[in-house]
Amino acid sequence: MDVLVLTHAWRPLRRISWQLAFQWIFAGRAEVIETYPDRTVNSARRAWPMPSIVRFLRRVRRRLRPRRITFNRRNVWLRDRGRCQYCDQRVASDAFTYDHIVPRSRGGDTSWGNIVVACLPCNQYKADLTPEEAGMRLRRTPVRPRALPDRAATDLRWRAGMPTSWRDYLGTVAWWTDALE
Ligand SMILES: [Zn+2]
Repeated sequence: MDVLVLTHAWRPLRRISWQLAFQWIFAGRAEVIETYPDRTVNSARRAWPMPSIVRFLRRVRRRLRPRRITFNRRNVWLRDRGRCQYCDQRVASDAFTYDHIVPRSRGGDTSWGNIVVACLPCNQYKADLTPEEAGMRLRRTPVRPRALPDRAATDLRWRAGMPTSWRDYLGTVAWWTDALE
């Protein structure tokens, strides 16, 4: 279960695991704002309501940003704005394929510069060809991103499947670019 974290000023900050939320609660850093109905975390002694939203009790002065952007599927998807880099179609973050621009069979490596998000049809069409051979054009040259600004839009805009309790806190504010209080 994911927990939505709000800043001291009630702005959405990030999603975290419930385990981390409990650490912050017990450390006195965060308070519970909402809980999931009918969900508990059981310790030997008692059952705790499962938080769905927590809020920092103090202001966070330091701007929280990824220390270093890890090369993983999710971040590749974020870098490419969730779109196939050949045909620009949107692909779901949990169901996309990624394409080796220079195929592995031709010596292409698995790196920021050689991996892009691709929809399944484009990926299958391209197969073991280079983009030139397949007559396909990349929409942009992939590089290691310095920041993933769209994380706000993709992670923290309310959409179906997210806990309904988050809805009031997500979506409208252009909060990501603001410095944190
Ligand atoms: Zn495509």
